[in-house]
Amino acid sequence: MQTIPSEYLEIDRKARVYTPYQDLSLRPPTERVCDFGDVVIPLDSERAMQEAARCIHCPDPAPCRLACPCHNDIPSAMWLIEQGRYGEAAELYRETSSLPEICSRVCPHEQLCQGSCVLNKTHEPVLCGPVETFVT
Ligand code: SF4
Ligand code: SF4
Repeated sequence: MQTIPSEYLEIDRKARVYTPYQDLSLRPPTERVCDFGDVVIPLDSERAMQEAARCIHCPDPAPCRLACPCHNDIPSAMWLIEQGRYGEAAELYRETSSLPEICSRVCPHEQLCQGSCVLNKTHEPVLCGPVETFVT
């Protein structure tokens, strides 16, 4: 069951569907060969909040959560993150996942949580993986 029940959230879901998504940039290969850092330039707090605010908070069971092998409560986490409640969101991820900071990096989220996001039908999915990486 979702920690934060979607049906009680007063949000403009139509507006959220058409909110531009955060484009991810990659570090240049010449820089990446010198270290073991992330390939993707991580989201900062402002971009993570904006991306989380694209979530339309699908009713339980949300398709992203069903597709996640850990069944992370993604809609509730996105609700916390869009308000800047990062610590609470990180704790929520840890309730269902032992290593969310690793899973969010190595997981094929394009096929799992993001691949199942309903926004794929009209737009780009919520970037659940990079947002999870930022907050954890
Ligand atoms: S990145 Fe992986 S572990 Fe994290 S929510 Fe998506 S499917 Fe689940
Ligand atoms: S499927 Fe997408 S829009 Fe729906 S709750 Fe999950 S992340 Fe949010």
